[in-house]
Amino acid sequence: MQNSKNIDKEYVAGTYARFDLEIVDGKGSRVFDDDGKEYIDLATGIAVNTFGVADDEWIKAVNEQLGKFQHVSNLYYSSPCALLAKMLCERTGAKKVFFGNSGAEANECAIKVARKWAQDTKGEGDYTIITLKNSFHGRTIATLTATGQDVFHKDFGPFPQGFAYAEANNLDSVSEIIKNTKCCAIMMEMVQGEGGVLPLDKEFVKGCARLADENDLLIIVDEVQTGNGRTGTLYAYEQFDICPDVVTTAKGLGGGLPIGATMLFERVEGTLNAGSHGSTFGGNPIACAGAISIISRLDKKTLDGVKERSKYIFDELTGAQGIKSVSGLGLMIGIETERDSTEVLKACMARGILPIKAKTKLRLLPALNIPMDDLKTALEIIKECAKGE
Ligand SMILES: *Cc1c(COP(=O)(O)O)cnc(C)c1O
Repeated sequence: MQNSKNIDKEYVAGTYARFDLEIVDGKGSRVFDDDGKEYIDLATGIAVNTFGVADDEWIKAVNEQLGKFQHVSNLYYSSPCALLAKMLCERTGAKKVFFGNSGAEANECAIKVARKWAQDTKGEGDYTIITLKNSFHGRTIATLTATGQDVFHKDFGPFPQGFAYAEANNLDSVSEIIKNTKCCAIMMEMVQGEGGVLPLDKEFVKGCARLADENDLLIIVDEVQTGNGRTGTLYAYEQFDICPDVVTTAKGLGGGLPIGATMLFERVEGTLNAGSHGSTFGGNPIACAGAISIISRLDKKTLDGVKERSKYIFDELTGAQGIKSVSGLGLMIGIETERDSTEVLKACMARGILPIKAKTKLRLLPALNIPMDDLKTALEIIKECAKGE
């Protein structure tokens, strides 16, 4: 008999090693598979469903816009796009926002901005962007090149010029590149998500900002995963005492709809002009209406709730039997287990909870409003599975 799993295997490009699980429904932090089995969702579609599945307030905001118009070309003005840009600027101090549709696209824009800014202000050859080893910036050819992990590069060359990789948390390694190469920017994630949920050292980040200042470079912060309340502040860079020039985000911004944003601060506010960049779907009114509803709910109360849940997770898991380490920031958590993490993950799924993996770790990216009772239940199960029970 043909079911979605078989049809998918036959017709969808084989880029994903999917688990044997089909989600058919859900509400909040609970989702259901095709057998009606209930799960506590600990990954929110990789940090996308900010307030969980089928959240009432988000549905209302999206539905209201759906009833008006679903798309308009960027030849005309539309209010959701304008209001979201205003909101993001007012909350961060950015001056302008470019909207795309994904994290990779937000980073592509940041790369173009850095290159054009360098052309406009520095000179022809100053195009190199320093990124960090073990980073992840996307799957397009340029963002793949920016990504400092060889596994992703295999088979896809040739790559564009203009990227150099420094060692994370090693300022000398950054200085070395600056000394030997004409650069325009340093690009980094405050917490390397795909790299294993590794927060950068604050001193390193501040050191990069100092080097950027001394050498007239831009700081680009990739907040595709860390952004939109995920780490307990609206954007993670706020916790690292730096003022970036470009901040990119996507994943949680739309609460489940595809949207990416590239926020441009003072030094680069005028870098993009008419015709220099664009995107047909960029600033889509439905996606922007969803994002407005998400951003407007990321107030102190919600962010305090993220910090409270984060502390609870660290307290519960740190030092527990079978758990080697817990890393991360806010509700972006990596768990190193003594048992093979894939085995632990499978045991968790069998018991009705859905964490994911980051490299060899278990990774938790729950909804920012996951009920404490659900979190408690999920952590008990994780501890039991890590122990091998
Ligand atoms: C997921 C991710 C991306 C890529 O986002 P897509 O929407 O998949 O293109 C880029 N950077 C970081 C830090 C990410 O976590």
